[in-house]
Amino acid sequence: MNGLYIHVPFCERKCGYCSFYSVAGREHEIDSWLDALELEAASPFCGEVLNTLYIGGGTPTILNISQWKKLFEIINRNFNLENLIEATVEANPNSLDDEKLKILADNKISRISLGVQSLNDDELKILGRLHDSYKALKAMEAVKKFNLMLNCDLIFAIPSQTLKTWSKSLKGVLNFADHVSTYQLTLEPETPLGKKYKNSDLNEDGYKFYRYVQYYLPKKNFIQYEISNFAPEGNECRHNLLYWNHDNVIGLGASAVSYIDGVRIKNPDNLEKYLTHDYVREFENLSGHEKSIELAILQLRTKYGIKINETLPEIIEKLNSMPEDLFIKTPERISLSKRGMRLGNSIWCELIDL
Ligand code: SF4
Repeated sequence: MNGLYIHVPFCERKCGYCSFYSVAGREHEIDSWLDALELEAASPFCGEVLNTLYIGGGTPTILNISQWKKLFEIINRNFNLENLIEATVEANPNSLDDEKLKILADNKISRISLGVQSLNDDELKILGRLHDSYKALKAMEAVKKFNLMLNCDLIFAIPSQTLKTWSKSLKGVLNFADHVSTYQLTLEPETPLGKKYKNSDLNEDGYKFYRYVQYYLPKKNFIQYEISNFAPEGNECRHNLLYWNHDNVIGLGASAVSYIDGVRIKNPDNLEKYLTHDYVREFENLSGHEKSIELAILQLRTKYGIKINETLPEIIEKLNSMPEDLFIKTPERISLSKRGMRLGNSIWCELIDL
């Protein structure tokens, strides 16, 4: 399986919590970015057969119609899409409209991942999002009008959020969504929100929201197939499954990461350097041992877990020494229980040190 990830590093404005690589207010540089991308796409991977495509960011929907046309020309000219099984575009409710949805749907895009984050206007303001709940609902409605699969991203542990507002947001997106991703708000110290809530214990509060989502979504047939992801059977994100299985993913664009046959290749988090081709990619060649540990951690994130006979004995031994209620064990596999998923970070810490 092969995937292509394209990172669009532009946003209208920076959200207060965001630590992803993106630049705000530089839409005038999108055409130059497309030129740089065109050069990068004509790389050793040119002609590669793709099974999945994921255009993320940043805010891909910031591109105008002629920029989308150019992007699809670049993809079609450089890759073979005959075996494509899924193509996702990340979208922001503020910059998604029918005209853009039409060009996406006309160019093999099958899935929209919409940054809803909350359906509570106060929480959206705290996060520094540009949209309100009405815009989010309209965007969800529009995606479904074009018969595209819809993932909604939601954030929990937002300052002032209660279980009631969290439950309303979840319920609201379920009227439209085919897939839900939920993330705990992380207060990175360098972000405006991180600075504002520097001394608070907000991160401690995430537990109850996460427990609630683990209880609520499965009742609605949204199975937790990964620590942050829920979907009815068959709606899982195929592109993300590539990462969790160490399959090959080609990454293009400033800050994109490729993973090819055990080698991780990182583009610079720097648009200027990317535009002027003035950069050297970072290569990380994982040793066999590192690869096995990383793969076990990635696979344990999913409901499928690890295959016992394909995993290093010391990993199995370590997992067997931890409390039983963290795991679901069969003779062939070990995966995390709901409680194990809640405590995933502590489990990874134990494995990383092996
Ligand atoms: S839209 Fe997404 S990538 Fe852009 S600033 Fe907000 S959170 Fe970050």
